[in-house]
Amino acid sequence: MTNTEEKSQAVLLKEKLLFKKECGIKKLSDEEIEKADQFCADYVQFLNSSKTEREAVATALEMAKAAGFAEFDPQKKYSAGDKIYCINRKKNIVLAVIGTQGAKDGVRFAIAHVDSPRLDLKPYPLYEANDLALFKTHYYGGIKKYQWTAIPLALHGVVALKDNTTVQINIGEGEADPCFCVTDLLPHLAQEQMAKTGLKVFTGEDLNVLVGSRPFKDDKEAELVKLNIMNIMFEKYGITEEDFLSAELELVPAFKAKDLGFDRSMIAGYGHDDRVCAYPALMAAINAKAPTHTVVTILVDKEEIGSEGNTGMQSDFMRFFINDLAKTQGLEGYQVLSRSKCLSADVNAAFDPTYASVYESNNSCFINNGVCITKYTGHGGKYDTSDASAEFMAEIRQVLEKDNVLWQSGELGKVDGGGGGTIAKYVANMNVDVVDLGVPVLSMHAPLEVVSKVDVYMAYKAFSAFFNFD
Ligand code: MN
Ligand code: MN
Repeated sequence: MTNTEEKSQAVLLKEKLLFKKECGIKKLSDEEIEKADQFCADYVQFLNSSKTEREAVATALEMAKAAGFAEFDPQKKYSAGDKIYCINRKKNIVLAVIGTQGAKDGVRFAIAHVDSPRLDLKPYPLYEANDLALFKTHYYGGIKKYQWTAIPLALHGVVALKDNTTVQINIGEGEADPCFCVTDLLPHLAQEQMAKTGLKVFTGEDLNVLVGSRPFKDDKEAELVKLNIMNIMFEKYGITEEDFLSAELELVPAFKAKDLGFDRSMIAGYGHDDRVCAYPALMAAINAKAPTHTVVTILVDKEEIGSEGNTGMQSDFMRFFINDLAKTQGLEGYQVLSRSKCLSADVNAAFDPTYASVYESNNSCFINNGVCITKYTGHGGKYDTSDASAEFMAEIRQVLEKDNVLWQSGELGKVDGGGGGTIAKYVANMNVDVVDLGVPVLSMHAPLEVVSKVDVYMAYKAFSAFFNFD
């Protein structure tokens, strides 16, 4: 239909008044989809080299340095286009590009988290039972425990020694590396187990990781399998059992992220939540060229356990950084924060047709429909959430439309179906305008999560548009 006269009045009125929901990817050109595929090839590399918060921060730092970012010096004066970074305890990185207006009208934040659900080793992890050596774990973040059994796991992390040196451990990723696993019960003997409710079918204390089975030589001593494993770890890493006390060792899925589907339209991998927003936010800062307002990307830790601790969003490190940055420009930190705007870059649950009953389809986000704006999260009547203001939502609509970003709006499932939260409320507490914006994810918090390549690229376009909006 080319002539408007051929359209009925109802069609014309619908076009004028109603919000048109359609499969977003159909609106994109082949070139745009090709760009998304290229962007995601690099994202997959980032994902595979960043399975822990420390690794993500180290990778981001390397990329930032290569792009000309220099360590922030609170005594220095900065000018437009200067690129700076600041690291907090190896688990947070702040990247800033100074704008032509400095920070007097506030900064533009994109904040994502780089921790993901996983199994952490307990302080005394290693034990022997019936001639098998195992690690006790304490799971981190919201997991369905059964999903972590019978899959290959890799061990990542650090052991800090009393001589102030730190040993890096990363085993289970290489082709020649061994892997580890939580064993599961065979179906033949699982009658009693399968009759239990989902919450009890696998408990936290069942998440024991098999790490060895051969004894240390033929000797009368007890627990020789445990001894043999400790000996191997001593020879490889120079650590003893007590050193586990000063360690952060995390078991993560050993498999690599890869394309999903005959059409290669999606990516299956561990830790999309929230590296799928962290990477686009990182790239938006790296590619920012002398914006009007100073732009700041922050990658934070501990979101999956409530943003607690000195590397989580509830810590003052962001406020301290802004205070220091403000001082370099003769401003007060609180003034800068009060005028700042933030995209809390986090994922939302993509509509899953297999589990359609938990979603309200009018207000869900869908794979391939672009980056998702989530006005509020929370639970039980918008409890525990920041609810973005109408005015800020209107501004974000302008930002996204100006740069042709494919976007959608979504809630986290049905009302009272459960709930969740993000870092948005902690940013809001600093008197910053904030809204959640991120990539729809299928199988969120599972060892293998799924995202659409187009949506990942649209997250990058969204953060870039936000950084360049005056
Ligand atoms: Mn998240
Ligand atoms: Mn999460």
